[in-house]
Amino acid sequence: MTIHKAHCLILPYPVQGHVNPMLQFSKRLQSKGVKITIAPTKSFLKNMQDLPTTVSVEAISDGYDDGGRDQAESFVAYTTQFNEVGADTLSQLIQKLTNCRCPVNCIVYDPFLPWAVEVAKNFGLATAAFFTQNCVVDNIYYHVHEGVVKLPPTQVDQEILIPGLSCTIGSSDVPSFVIDPEAERILEMLVNQYSNLDKVDWVLINSVYELEKEVIDWMSKIYPIKTIGPTIPSMYLDKRLQDDKEYGLSMFKPMTNECLNWLNHQPISSVVYVSFGSLVKIEGEQMEELAWGLKNCNRNFLWVVRSNEEPKLPKNLLKELKSTSSNNKGLVVSWCPQLQVLEHESIACFLSHCGWNSTLEAISLGVPMVTMPQWSDQPTNTKLVQNVWEMGVRAKQDDKGIVRRDVIEECINLVMEEEKGKLIRENAKKWKELARNAMDEGGSSDKNIEEFVSKLVTIS
Ligand code: UDP
Repeated sequence: MTIHKAHCLILPYPVQGHVNPMLQFSKRLQSKGVKITIAPTKSFLKNMQDLPTTVSVEAISDGYDDGGRDQAESFVAYTTQFNEVGADTLSQLIQKLTNCRCPVNCIVYDPFLPWAVEVAKNFGLATAAFFTQNCVVDNIYYHVHEGVVKLPPTQVDQEILIPGLSCTIGSSDVPSFVIDPEAERILEMLVNQYSNLDKVDWVLINSVYELEKEVIDWMSKIYPIKTIGPTIPSMYLDKRLQDDKEYGLSMFKPMTNECLNWLNHQPISSVVYVSFGSLVKIEGEQMEELAWGLKNCNRNFLWVVRSNEEPKLPKNLLKELKSTSSNNKGLVVSWCPQLQVLEHESIACFLSHCGWNSTLEAISLGVPMVTMPQWSDQPTNTKLVQNVWEMGVRAKQDDKGIVRRDVIEECINLVMEEEKGKLIRENAKKWKELARNAMDEGGSSDKNIEEFVSKLVTIS
């Protein structure tokens, strides 16, 4: 019989990019003797191809058990219902888990669900907010909450200096919701992350101290911050959790054999890997530019186009790629095992929307990036990749908001060419070492996780 040191109930926001990091963090806690129960929503679990087998899974309700967010009339309707039904079903779940051998003593919650704090306090439980975005992004939302950053900026090109940040931030670098007048309600949710953050026992951030030292030191004066990332499977980092090879939770089925067989036939460091993650919808015109940019640069590419996006591909591209299979320039798949792809020796460069998970994966596997941010925190992540960590370049949009084929071609060439891309590639290798060390025994994130567990034990 396993004796657990403590029991954490993990409450993620029900989208893949938020659940995966919390699940990975859970595996780390579990390896240090903490019992884990993870509780996404019923609707989220319904859509999964597979479920995690290593931790206990329960569910709360967002009030839309059949279709989740897609079933709700609007974002506001969804959030309102989720707040009410979520809090009730969370209470019921805690009640149920109170009767188990090792009762819950801490809730690790996504701050998109700030109501979890009150529920936890009603049961006398400790609370840890888990931010899935990096600390620079968190800091920007914090300052919007405090009313210090007043955006949208009056001038489009205005550069602002935000306390705690070492570089200025322009309107093209801030998270899109900060300047998009139509995203008012989403911004409200993001800013609300701070509404009761002064009441929590820990603030955990899926990042690495060494990547964002200044801002983490600054924010640590306000909140009890601990960086605990990168939350990617251990076998791609420190290899201390032998069975931890994948996230174990996926909305889409990866075309693993097809991708790896194809990559195995490509020369070392020759392939551009292209993916825009699980949510982004690319406009038709942009898709066309991307296709031509990839074709024109005359390099091998592996491009993930989700099946709902496929109709936007130029009509004869797929046919053409198949018919020119003799030189095997490109492969388009609907989903791939991204970590296995990024680790493959044939990969030279990652053309990405710069979602935070993809960025952390590129950092952890030392792959230089070409970035095409679309929304949310992606512009800010891009700024860090290009100007702070200097491990990639941003492919810039024109006045119509489209990144043109020649810009895409130029950026890929810059990262891949012998001399021009040397520094970028060297930096990517440097950050890879640093990310691995952070998670390895005695590294900054490992120490923070150890400290978190030690404190949990004293309160259990
Ligand atoms: N991913 C994957 N296969 C793909 C494309 C993406 O496994 O073909 C994974 C990727 O490894 C990452 C996640 O999907 O963990 C995307 O998260 P990110 O935060 O980068 O973007 P989002 O999907 O939230 O926009």
